Amino acid sequence: MNAPIVIAGAGIGGLTAALALAGSGRRALVLEQAPVIAEVGAGLQIAPNAGRVLARLGLEEALAAAALEPRAVNIRRGRDGDLLARLDLSVARARWGAPFRVFHRADLQQILLRAARAHPLIEVREGARVADFRDRGAQVDIDVETTQGARTLSAAGLVGADGGRSAIRARLLPVEADAPAYAGASAWRALIPAGRAPDFLRGVESHLWLLPGAHVVHYPLRDGGLINVVIILAETAPASTVAARSGAEVAGLLEAYRAAPALCALIGCAETYRHWPLYVRPSLTRWCHGPVTLLGDAAHPMVPFLAQGAAQAIEDADALGRAFSATPREPVARIFANYAQARRARASAVARASSRQGHIDHLRGPLATARDFAIRALGGDALLMRNAWLYRGETLE
Ligand SMILES: Cc1cc2nc3c(=O)[nH]c(=O)nc-3n(C[C@H](O)[C@H](O)[C@H](O)COP(=O)(O)OP(=O)(O)OC[C@H]3O[C@@H](n4cnc5c(N)ncnc54)[C@H](O)[C@@H]3O)c2cc1C
Repeated sequence: MNAPIVIAGAGIGGLTAALALAGSGRRALVLEQAPVIAEVGAGLQIAPNAGRVLARLGLEEALAAAALEPRAVNIRRGRDGDLLARLDLSVARARWGAPFRVFHRADLQQILLRAARAHPLIEVREGARVADFRDRGAQVDIDVETTQGARTLSAAGLVGADGGRSAIRARLLPVEADAPAYAGASAWRALIPAGRAPDFLRGVESHLWLLPGAHVVHYPLRDGGLINVVIILAETAPASTVAARSGAEVAGLLEAYRAAPALCALIGCAETYRHWPLYVRPSLTRWCHGPVTLLGDAAHPMVPFLAQGAAQAIEDADALGRAFSATPREPVARIFANYAQARRARASAVARASSRQGHIDHLRGPLATARDFAIRALGGDALLMRNAWLYRGETLE
């Protein structure tokens, strides 16, 4: 009982998992390879299914202070900005027990990190990379590399929360077919000072612009002084090997998609965009092997078109904590198997639904016209309710 569960990776998944494990009475040791834990400068939408978990972990007050709650999502035709539907998000708390929130990623990560550091059952070490492990049956030996040198730790279990390029997954599944594969789209991300944006795009609302082979999402962050912009371009291969481009260059890219002048103007307000080719891996039939399991992007990297990757990592963490609470005396390998069993179908369903959403968002020609007609005909509330299964936490498609 006293050997900790080691979690490789202090991303949103790993830190939430540590809090959930500690909540079930287990010790957790989080090892993060980066010398300082820091998220990318970008926004993150946290849907009610994940918000409920974070609130149960005692974080509600901190979350409410750091987040904005967009009143609505406005779905717009990208070529002229015409409003196709407005999804009223203020219904979320009553329907699904938590609001839709948007965070600066670094703010959410710091909330999780502070809570983890304050918990007596959790230790977080930076600059500690999990290099390898050996399954010893009732325990796992973990080789850790730090700037002071390498050492081996013994743990009751190892959770690979080491992201979409997980080395722990590669070690569990050393097959070429499992290597990360380009998902056929890449993202450009930037934060824009809201003062530079056109007036009608500055409120506490999210916007989704649909273009043939592309879409753009933007929403305000913090006190509304920043706008997070994510541009997704469908490309058979990443068209750019450049890691960053100026706002003017990226606005130029969007002009080729015949984007509305107001949208190009907003996009052009950013100093710099960072390029993010999207990668996926096949859905796994097995997430664990003895006392080693996977969590978050390591288990189920997905395209971000339903804004659910981090939410699914948070759900994984919750399921892991519940599995330990339900049968605390079972061997860790059995508890990990129960956790994987509880999560696999839902995470795979969400990953598939995310890919489908990308196809819908990127339709061209008459199919795009038909989609826009359907969006208008359905209206905002029916569109929101199409994803109610996601926010309720069901495995329905
Ligand atoms: C453009 C874009 C927009 C997105 N928007 C949303 C959104 O709005 N809402 C949402 O829910 N999701 C969104 N996502 C998905 C979300 O970002 C990810 O699903 C989520 O960050 C995954 O968290 P994680 O903890 O599993 O992995 P990561 O965040 O990748 O963390 C993994 C950590 O492990 C560390 N690590 C790696 N290897 C080792 C090792 N060997 N030893 C120790 N540490 C190691 C890494 O340094 C890192 O800190 C988006 C993704 C993209 C690309």
